Parts: sequence; C-alpha cells; structure tokens
Amino acid sequence: MKEGRRMKVWSWLFISFIAGLTVALDLWIIQGRHVPLIWALFIIPCLVFIHLYPTWKAAVCIGLFFSSIKYGIELTIGHWSSSEAIYLIGGSIMNAAIFYTAAFFRVRYEVVLGELRKLTHVDALTGLHNRRFFEEHMIKSVDENKKIPPLLILLDLDHFKKINDTHGHVCGDLVLKKAGGVIRSSLRASDVVVRLGGEEFAVVCSNTQMEEGISVADRIIQNVEKLNVVYKEKQVAVTISAGIAVYEGEDIQGFIDKADRALYEAKRSGRNRLVVS
Ligand code: GH3
Ligand code: MG
Ligand code: MG
Repeated sequence: MKEGRRMKVWSWLFISFIAGLTVALDLWIIQGRHVPLIWALFIIPCLVFIHLYPTWKAAVCIGLFFSSIKYGIELTIGHWSSSEAIYLIGGSIMNAAIFYTAAFFRVRYEVVLGELRKLTHVDALTGLHNRRFFEEHMIKSVDENKKIPPLLILLDLDHFKKINDTHGHVCGDLVLKKAGGVIRSSLRASDVVVRLGGEEFAVVCSNTQMEEGISVADRIIQNVEKLNVVYKEKQVAVTISAGIAVYEGEDIQGFIDKADRALYEAKRSGRNRLVVS
C-alpha cells in the first residue's frame, strides 16, 4: 500500500519533469512567435491524460490529436517562413518523441502491474481464480445489493485422496485440471469459478434465482461424472459433491458456512449429489 503510494508520487514527479522539459524545449523553439506559451503548455494535458488513462490506444490518439491541432494551426496561421518551419517540424518530432517515451513507460508500467495483479488472483494449476480473489469477490458480490442475492455453490471432489493413492499425484493434478475446466465450461461467463485449494471449488452466481442455480450445480455434477479421464491407459472415475446457499444478509463467513454445511450433508448422504441449504 505504502509502496503503491510512493510509486504514484514518483510517477507524478516523472510526468511533471517531462512536461517541464517539453515546455522549455517548445519555448526555445518557437520563441518570439505568437501565442507560443499556449502551445508549449499543450503537452501538460496530454501527459496528465495519459497518466490517468494509461492505454496504448489513448497514447496514440492523444499524441496524434494534440500534435495535429498544435502544429496544424501553427503552420496554417503562424506565417512561418520555410526556413523557420524547419524548427517547427524539428520541435514537433522532438515533442512527439518525448510524449511517446513518457507514454510508453507509463502504459508499460500499467500493463505489467495489471499482469502481476492478475497472477496474484489466479490458481497456477487450473487457471481458475484463487482463494484471494474469492475473498475479495465475495465482499463485492454481497455489497452490490442487487435485486437477486448471490448464490454460492461449494464443490468438493469425491474420494480424491483415493485417486491420488491409486494413480499418483500427477494423475490427481490432471483430474483437478479437467474438473476445473468442466466446471468453468458448465457455467455462464458472468459466473465466477474459484479453486479454493486442494480439490475444493466454489462458484458464485450473481443475478440468478435458486432454481437456476440448482440446475447449474446439477449440470456440473453430471458433467464431472461424464469426465473421461484416462491415465496410463486406465480409466479414472471422478465424481463431485456440491452444496448451494443463497445470501440472506448474514456476514460472509456465515454465508460460506451455510453452503459448507450443505456440502457436508451431500458428502454424508452418499456423495455425487447436490444439497440445497
Ligand atoms: P471426500 O470425498 O470426503 O471429499 O474425500 P477426499 O478424499 O476427496 O478428501 P480428503 O480431504 O480426505 O483428501 C483430499 C486430498 O487432496 C488430500 C490431498 O493430498 C489432496 N490434494 C490437495 N491438493 C492437491 C493438489 O494440488 N494436487 C493433488 N494431486 N492432490 C491434492
Ligand atoms: Mg476436501
Ligand atoms: Mg474431497
């Protein structure tokens, strides 16, 4: 958090330095001409904009838009002689170089930061979201206060320890990957799938009625059962149990516990089934 704030301060200092450098360069190049200061200051909103909206598209658009206005107007009404115009063209190239260099570092920084942020939210084995994401997402989804409260489906592979013991951990990992893929493909894009850890998964459905949630969970259970996992020429049977609960205003842990109790009941009553809380 502290580091993030420090980076922001440095970033603003960098932008201010670049802006100052460009303004000084501009003033030097178009010294003595009419309204040079306004043109010189043009770089500031460009830099501030790219700082606030750091995308490649914005960088290209702002750069082209502002430089075409600035130099277009200046060349049209500035009455530059052809010998003087060379300064203007040279200045415009230098301006663009400075702006795009600053924009490049700003956008690249944001892209790398975004990728790092994503990595901290992704489970390495299955490519699904991880527990850290789940915790943040749960806070958001219960806070959203939509007309239809969110549903939580907790899922746990049945007798997974036996799969590991019989076929080995590599096979276990393969089953986890395949099961994760099947759960993801059984859902709408707007549903969030998480690997909570081990062989446990969670699905958060927003804007979904309970009946729809139940059919989604049933579909997952059926699709997992249909999974065709073959390891070292042996067929590996996979099933999953699920518990589903709807948010009723309790705290988040209470909501999760409710779905967990339903999952426990599904295990207790024979596995490969869904229990509604
Ligand atoms: P139940 O039907 O009651 O859920 O039984 P279970 O065997 O699935 O549950 P249990 O909690 O006894 O065992 C889970 C096993 O999952 C134990 C652990 O070694 C294994 N496991 C946890 N994480 C991983 C992983 O990333 N890869 C593999 N291959 N196994 C894992
Ligand atoms: Mg488990
Ligand atoms: Mg299990």
